[in-house]
Amino acid sequence: MQTQTIDLMTGSPGTRQSFQVHRYGTPGASPKVYIQGALHADEVPAILVTQQLARQFAKLEADGRIRGEIILVPYANPIGLGQTVLGQHQGRFDLRDGGNFNRGYAELAAPVRDAVRERLGSNQNDNTSLIREALRAAVAALPANTPTQDLKNKLLALAIDADIVLDLHCDTDAVMHLYALTPQTVMAEQLGAAIGARAVLLATESGDSPFDEACTRPWLQLQQMLPQFPIALACFGATVELRGEADTSHDFALQDAIGLCTFLAQNKVLSLVVNTEHAPLCVPTPLSGSEPIAAPHAGVVVFHRGPGERVAAGDAIADVVDALTGEVTTVRCKSDGLIYARCGSRWAAPGKRLAKIAGTSLARTGKLLSP
Ligand SMILES: [Zn+2]
Repeated sequence: MQTQTIDLMTGSPGTRQSFQVHRYGTPGASPKVYIQGALHADEVPAILVTQQLARQFAKLEADGRIRGEIILVPYANPIGLGQTVLGQHQGRFDLRDGGNFNRGYAELAAPVRDAVRERLGSNQNDNTSLIREALRAAVAALPANTPTQDLKNKLLALAIDADIVLDLHCDTDAVMHLYALTPQTVMAEQLGAAIGARAVLLATESGDSPFDEACTRPWLQLQQMLPQFPIALACFGATVELRGEADTSHDFALQDAIGLCTFLAQNKVLSLVVNTEHAPLCVPTPLSGSEPIAAPHAGVVVFHRGPGERVAAGDAIADVVDALTGEVTTVRCKSDGLIYARCGSRWAAPGKRLAKIAGTSLARTGKLLSP
């Protein structure tokens, strides 16, 4: 293993922030895997899992069982890790400008198309190499004028030419679930089975360019922009939601690291005999069919149902109790499905998202992720 410390642009004189990169296997070898934890810095179960992965990878490397190259960033967001406001850790949004640390990654399809259009040919593997080279160059050319932009560019530079990108997050109060691209359903289902996901949510575009899609979508877009050339979907990416923020458990972390290693072994990154007969715990569903349950007015939230429970259309999910009148409004779901996440606070402002249901009967459009 080689460990590198990457410094970020400093935000003010006399301060310094950095993150660590662990590299396992052979530099430049294929398949290349990139894994990072806690890009939303308050989603700390991901850090337990990256630490478990570091132990697993060190052992596997010593035994000569890493076939490709693995890049592991144990904590992806030193800026967010340091943000505390009135005693509360705030790791999702950048306190400088309110920007979400997992949105707004550079969209590289157009510049890469212009760079490769005249050089692509009939060999798909050659095209993959050419596109990767152009992706690296496009990321290297990205401007940064804030520490957060610098962080985003530097993380993207590590991941952009990988075969597999796993971005480890968690939700507020949730069961294991993941997000991936619809054309990569087979691998998403395989990953979901390996880690015991209760929901696998698929979209061709979630909106606002989260990290994993910045790595995966250029391939999909280049296929559409340049249909005359054979272009592979050469990067599989997923955002893995490791249950809820409070689910910090050594047992879970070890179980999740083993699940991720199983997926990497299935994809020939690790030479490891694994039980490949993990039965999936769910059928993938469209992210557009995910139903956000919102509070109709302000009030105290009393849940009837929780993460992991199956619900039918019309079921009562929560009551919202008006502080002024005492009136109770029961909030019901429109779709059948599984509750995969719910909010942490029990006070709701009007419109607050209380819970999310993985269903199939809705067809939402526009931006599909939580802000
Ligand atoms: Zn997150």
